[in-house]
Amino acid sequence: MDILKGIKGAPDWLPPDARTFNHVETAFLEAARLGGYERIRTPVFEPTEVFARGVGESTDVVQKEMYTFDDKGGRSITLRPEGTAGVIRAALEAGVPRSGSLPVKWAYAGEFFRYERPQAGRQRQFNQVGIEALGATDPVLDAEVVLLGWEALLRTGLRDLTLRMNTLGDRVDRPAYHERLNAYLDRFADDLPPDVADRRHLNPMRAFDSKAPGVPEIMAGAPLLSDHVSSEAKEFHEEVCRLLEAEGVPLTHDPQLVRGLDYYTRTTFEYQALGLGAQNAVGGGGRYDGLAEDLGWPEPFPGVGWALGIDRTVLALGDQVAPPPRAEVFVVAVDPSLESVAFALVAELRRAGIPADQSFGGRRMKAQLKLADRSGARLAVMLGPDEVARDVVTVRDLATGEQREVARAEVVAAVASG
Ligand code: AMP
Repeated sequence: MDILKGIKGAPDWLPPDARTFNHVETAFLEAARLGGYERIRTPVFEPTEVFARGVGESTDVVQKEMYTFDDKGGRSITLRPEGTAGVIRAALEAGVPRSGSLPVKWAYAGEFFRYERPQAGRQRQFNQVGIEALGATDPVLDAEVVLLGWEALLRTGLRDLTLRMNTLGDRVDRPAYHERLNAYLDRFADDLPPDVADRRHLNPMRAFDSKAPGVPEIMAGAPLLSDHVSSEAKEFHEEVCRLLEAEGVPLTHDPQLVRGLDYYTRTTFEYQALGLGAQNAVGGGGRYDGLAEDLGWPEPFPGVGWALGIDRTVLALGDQVAPPPRAEVFVVAVDPSLESVAFALVAELRRAGIPADQSFGGRRMKAQLKLADRSGARLAVMLGPDEVARDVVTVRDLATGEQREVARAEVVAAVASG
């Protein structure tokens, strides 16, 4: 029989990479927590319409990349390709727009699914941490969101980051701009690949996403939305950028940045990690003041947020961060028959909040010390028959080899103080 394999593009995260993964996820969530963003959980699948209407019919995500199937009740279901549409769906269903204390600030973490061509940094199942601030339109809030994302990435230890920013104006600015952009694209009608040509009638801005041969060159001369937004949207954007620059965030203005999802209005941004090659976007986001209405809410309900990719951040970090060790203290039973005595000491250490481990299966002391080294532990606590009889242990510093004897009752205190 063949050994079964997993699905292409759906990676397994195993140690030691899984440790870096957890380190990144924790750093992102910690930045969100410091900003007052409370962790929520929404389902990994939603009615297909949530994404079709939320993310937008013109996008690659909806047209080509969704995992969509009919469930046994004949409903069309889609595995979430991104987080925002589902979070807003949940907020509207819970009546959040009518709650008193806005903005509501939420954070999420989890798995997302896109049927893309798997390559380094691009998978079919990937992981994001995201935040959403719902119910307020204020440049200070946009600046808070962008800054928290920047600091979340720095918190992982990642350096060499850039931040690209743009404004997409308000939806009322769009029809006139779409007309202009379509008039420009008419001049190249014969050179546009079929998917760009088809989509431009739904949303010509999607042409900025296309990397098809010749398209970026055409788009380099295209009229820019940022030149056609209202003065109010422009001032809003300038204030967001001013606040970020005052915090020392080195941002770059990128008037071609539209991002691949239809729901963005005003602020859009992307964090990039230098050295990642083609897939260098580690996260991005923006404001989406029209999304709630797309999902059926009767009046505008604004929001702004980001999603940071865990997988790509892990890739960008490489071995730059030393993930935390599995154990701090490894209890070694000098005589394998003392494994059960070690068990009680390990339990005591763990209860005191000290990550501790021991060996199993009756190994010799030398093999146990090897395991202790591999676990990354700082200290080995050794128990021999003589020590047990005298009610003491030997504490060995695994880096220096230094040893000292400690009374059994004092082990936790001795270990905690180094
Ligand atoms: P998006 O939801 O497209 O705005 O993407 C936000 C972030 O999620 C990106 O910057 C990536 O870090 C990550 N991401 C998106 N799609 C993938 C994918 N297919 N594989 C790995 N990471 C992804």
